[in-house]
Amino acid sequence: MIILVLNAGSSSQKSCLYSLGESIPDNPPEPLWEAHLDWTVSREGGILTVKSNDLKQKIEVRERDTALNVVLETIVKGKTKVLDSLNDIDVVGHRVVHGGAKYNQATVITSEVKDAIADLIPLAPNHNPAHLEGINIIEEILPQVPQVAVFDTAFHATIPQPAKVYPLPYKWYKKGILRYGFHGISHEYCAKRTAQILREPLESLKIITCHLGNGCSLAAIAEGICIDTTMGFSPLEGLMMGTRCGSIDPQILIYMMQEYGLDADELNQILNQESGLKGVSGISGDMRAIDEAIASGNTQARLAVDIYIHRLKKAIGALVASLNGLDVLVFTAGVGENSSIVREQTCAGLAYLGLQLDLVKNKSHPLDENIATKNSQVRVLVVHTQEDWAISLAARSQYRAIGGNK
Ligand code: ADP
Repeated sequence: MIILVLNAGSSSQKSCLYSLGESIPDNPPEPLWEAHLDWTVSREGGILTVKSNDLKQKIEVRERDTALNVVLETIVKGKTKVLDSLNDIDVVGHRVVHGGAKYNQATVITSEVKDAIADLIPLAPNHNPAHLEGINIIEEILPQVPQVAVFDTAFHATIPQPAKVYPLPYKWYKKGILRYGFHGISHEYCAKRTAQILREPLESLKIITCHLGNGCSLAAIAEGICIDTTMGFSPLEGLMMGTRCGSIDPQILIYMMQEYGLDADELNQILNQESGLKGVSGISGDMRAIDEAIASGNTQARLAVDIYIHRLKKAIGALVASLNGLDVLVFTAGVGENSSIVREQTCAGLAYLGLQLDLVKNKSHPLDENIATKNSQVRVLVVHTQEDWAISLAARSQYRAIGGNK
């Protein structure tokens, strides 16, 4: 069967196509076709990069309204063509950032689901409108094809109340002010992959997954279920990130409003876009740029990483307490998968758990493997997160649940 995965954001759109047979392979296969449309690199429009048939093609895209049509055309036309017709697509899976308190698993998209995604726009203003746009365009082009929403919040629906409810007036909780958590597709995929790599039942493991990309979050997973996470009502809470501050004293905001006259829009911009690694270093939110600055002696960049590691270790400690122990620590996403220095410095602070990193393995570009020493009481894994693959599997299972027979 052919599955199209759409992962739409405010400034980019990632898509891929998987072709699956009867059985699901143990290791995620390469997609048949991949496309990345980026609106941030050029002033004139978007740059679309398409990979398929062992080649890579770049296309300029001018109009936003018809951009998805241009993306989809590359599946059936030109050198990147992999299908005769878009009608060969059996199901479409969408990553949807916010499913609110209602959706605790992937679901086939109906008008009711679309309404729910629209109602949640105030909670995910940068993402949910883009998801809806993608869903509507596919509905027009492929009206017969089922579409499935796979929510980034769903995996966290199991978090128990003491971790979910904020110590605020209870009526705020009733208004929907609660810990939703994000990056759920990645955390769930990495937990399952961890059990597969270790050849141990997922239910037997206490796992902390560290998703360290531009956005960063941890999830505490016991018996295969998420019991705590660092992101909260929004993706701003928790760890220090590329450009987001993570948890800070909320009184700072009140002080800056009262004493410096900052308004909600300015605070929103500063906390989400001008804080974190970028804010402290004054250089960039990109860890590679920070590493280069440190190498040339920049002390502010050094401080930014020191704060990043300090907060990461503290948050891991907090989730160890939530889990009442730890069997496996998992690193994933851009920083987690690639930065041996971040892994080394983080693990150095966790020796009290009996965790010992194999420093040689850590430096040898590990992928989907255990990098702890044989005697370590906690296993440490680097897992390549494969959110699109996870979305395609969820879409496949929903497709089958409604009687699809491919
Ligand atoms: P997103 O959250 O947007 O999906 P990614 O998971 O791609 O982000 O992670 C982006 C981050 O990963 C950036 O900070 C980037 O600098 C960092 N990164 C990528 N490769 C490396 C590397 N080799 N060393 C250190 N950091 C890296």
